[in-house]
Amino acid sequence: MPTVYIETYGCQMNVADTELMLGHLGAHGYRRTDAPDRADVILLNTCAIREHAEARVLGRLGELARHKQRRPEVRLGVTGCMAQHLRGALRERAPWVDLLVGPDGYRHLPELLSDDGDPHVALRLDPSETYADLPVAREGGVRAWITAMRGCDRFCTFCIVPYVRGRERSLPGPLLVEQVRALAASGTREVVFLGQTVNAYHDGAWDFAELLARTAAIPGILRIRFTSPHPADMSERLIDAVASHPAIAPQLHLPVQSGADRVLARMARDYTVAGYEALVARLRARIPAIALSTDVIVGFPGETDDDFAATEALLERVRYDSAFLFKYSSREGTRAWKWGDTVPEAEKARRLELLIALQERISGEINRRLVGTDVEVLVEGPARRTPGWMAGKSPQLKTVVLPGPAAAGDVVRVRVEAATSHTLSGQVVRP
Ligand code: SAM
Ligand code: SF4
Repeated sequence: MPTVYIETYGCQMNVADTELMLGHLGAHGYRRTDAPDRADVILLNTCAIREHAEARVLGRLGELARHKQRRPEVRLGVTGCMAQHLRGALRERAPWVDLLVGPDGYRHLPELLSDDGDPHVALRLDPSETYADLPVAREGGVRAWITAMRGCDRFCTFCIVPYVRGRERSLPGPLLVEQVRALAASGTREVVFLGQTVNAYHDGAWDFAELLARTAAIPGILRIRFTSPHPADMSERLIDAVASHPAIAPQLHLPVQSGADRVLARMARDYTVAGYEALVARLRARIPAIALSTDVIVGFPGETDDDFAATEALLERVRYDSAFLFKYSSREGTRAWKWGDTVPEAEKARRLELLIALQERISGEINRRLVGTDVEVLVEGPARRTPGWMAGKSPQLKTVVLPGPAAAGDVVRVRVEAATSHTLSGQVVRP
């Protein structure tokens, strides 16, 4: 049996795509391996969101060239967003790569691999490709990631995703419900629906609120999450669904990107700061226990000191539980690319550091307020940093470590004894 090794870069969508490729190749006789040294096929499933992500993969391709030197029969492929983004340029910079396969080309992997002639490419975007009929080889465990929709139609001016992942399309709702049912039967306790604008999900009959409501009714599924919703697509029906189904976790990742209207308009985000904050207020009124997180970009072209100060002020006002903070990275092909990269690197780094310090303080304050309270933890497995302890998540997606006794899949009540900006820890208490 030929073996395949896949290394995944970037977001959860890519992790899910890797599971899809492993499932599809598995059905064609390939066995998965964790050892690139012995693999017949080595694939890097890549990300193009920031330049840094692409630089890492180029570095890794340089290292992998030695496998090709020692074993010329190894097939080396680049899949995913960076293959789609760099196309020919990638072949010039890493001519030892045999295969370039974009996000809509995974179906062709078996045939591309069976033909060991010239290098192959599958970079045509196909707006109807959902891979609905392909098997997925999931990691297993307490949580499963499920792709609900692919692509994006929003074209935020900084973002490469619509160009490399193509137009938005949703998987059929009944099929997703069947997948969740099967996962529940095999021990999965939490599902996370994925999509670049997952709340724009619509399969022609069901909207996203309907999909969530149907999933929430499946026995055995204790928690349902989704990422990332777009603020402009947060319907009242969706808020109602989250508020009314106990299985839908009170936690939302709601990327804001900037706290300045001027910047939001140039980013083409389709909401204002006031509109976004009104949405946050509605969410908190309807779902009092909700935890919020966000994404922010600093140093977007033309971002002034005042714009940045507005972002700091927004983080202070909203008080997110956590935030992913990024320096703007100019991506060729996007609309903002033409506006240059006007904020100097040192200034971007300064702004980023200020935001990180601000958010760490806020996250720490929010988490420390939980000391002395009880949280319900869905245990996932051994804690990474505390040998002998277990770790899991609260409904609000906060990492909680505990000494046990508990096994993966258990739900235990934990009295929080200590908190940092990233983790809670405590002891199991009887209900
Ligand atoms: N679809 C999601 C949304 O709109 O919220 C986000 C998808 S993207 C993979 C994740 C985050 O990467 C974005 O929310 C944004 O903050 C960041 N990002 C996207 N393009 C970027 C760029 N050119 N430079 C820096 N950060 C970027
Ligand atoms: Fe990119 Fe905007 Fe689409 Fe998110 S919504 S993937 S940021 S274009």
